[in-house]
Amino acid sequence: MGLFGNLISCDIGIDLGTANILISVNGEGIVVDEPSIVAIETKTRRVLAVGSEAKEMVGRTPGEIITIRPLREGVIADFEVTEDMLRILLKRVIKNRFLVRPRVVVGVPSGITEVEKRAVRLSAERVNAREVHLVSEPMAGAIGVGINVHEPIGSMIIDVGGGTSEIAVIALSGIVNGATSNRIGGDKLDDAIVQYLKKNYNLLVGERTAEDIKKEIGSACPLEEEIEIDIKGRDLVAAIPRTVKISSVEIREAIAEPINAITDAVLLSLERMPPEVASDILDRGIILTGGTALLRGLDQRIREETNLPVHVAEDPLTCVVRGTEKILKNLNSYRKVLY
Ligand code: ADP
Ligand code: MG
Repeated sequence: MGLFGNLISCDIGIDLGTANILISVNGEGIVVDEPSIVAIETKTRRVLAVGSEAKEMVGRTPGEIITIRPLREGVIADFEVTEDMLRILLKRVIKNRFLVRPRVVVGVPSGITEVEKRAVRLSAERVNAREVHLVSEPMAGAIGVGINVHEPIGSMIIDVGGGTSEIAVIALSGIVNGATSNRIGGDKLDDAIVQYLKKNYNLLVGERTAEDIKKEIGSACPLEEEIEIDIKGRDLVAAIPRTVKISSVEIREAIAEPINAITDAVLLSLERMPPEVASDILDRGIILTGGTALLRGLDQRIREETNLPVHVAEDPLTCVVRGTEKILKNLNSYRKVLY
């Protein structure tokens, strides 16, 4: 492309996550970090808000507005809305920024279908992208973490996001033995907290409150000092607002089932691993990425279950988008990992 091309090259990396969408631009870093939520007017299907603006509306919408998480559970549950969200955010990024058409790399869930890939590609092309490449999220996460994905040594990545856990072993620019993806992530922990409070306290709390509780006192292992907080919700019997004291011990019990499901999935994929790769993992350990990697004690819990070294990636919420940045900086050497 020559010198001039390089000077004005514009590259956009996207993490199209089930909970959060992140967009980075070359030379600037992360410019969008928003929840993957869209608010829609029901009658006209018109998009009213995306991202945090839409998240503010969750659980508070009047009848004529709904909020949608179009990527819930790791697959594109709502095609059109995913496209709208991507298009609106990309337009915002591109506006007044680029002189030439951008190259785009999008991290997508590893379980994505061909039809969904096409839809993602099309929405990126629609904002005038020059080239669009897709990469699986665990691969992008591994690259973001700084793993040399081209070498012949296996690295295990567990990405626990909002909608899914994805477990992948990466070596020689590919995913060994196929990634395992299940629909257990942070959302399931939030649901479990809602259910627990309903059952044990007759207290109704919304999804967002449950998420806040999880982040504040949630854990996968006993804490050195257990924590207690006040929770506000609606009493199911008296139908009025009420405050309840809840401890981290109770919340751990509340989320035990989905946490067990995550560790079971890790154990299962270890069992299925070719022996050579198993020995690589024994040396290198497991790396946790994704927002749920921040849950207290999740690393310790997986360490205890597997007897392997487990590390939480630095800034686990941004690994995928940082991976797409790195890919764009050296697109040619990453051709093999792109769809
Ligand atoms: P996705 O890739 O599916 O968009 P992310 O990697 O962005 O997901 O992670 C989002 C999930 O991480 C949400 O379920 C959120 O509640 C959870 N999360 C974020 N911070 C924390 C924290 N400190 N403790 C526990 N869970 C967290
Ligand atoms: Mg993710």
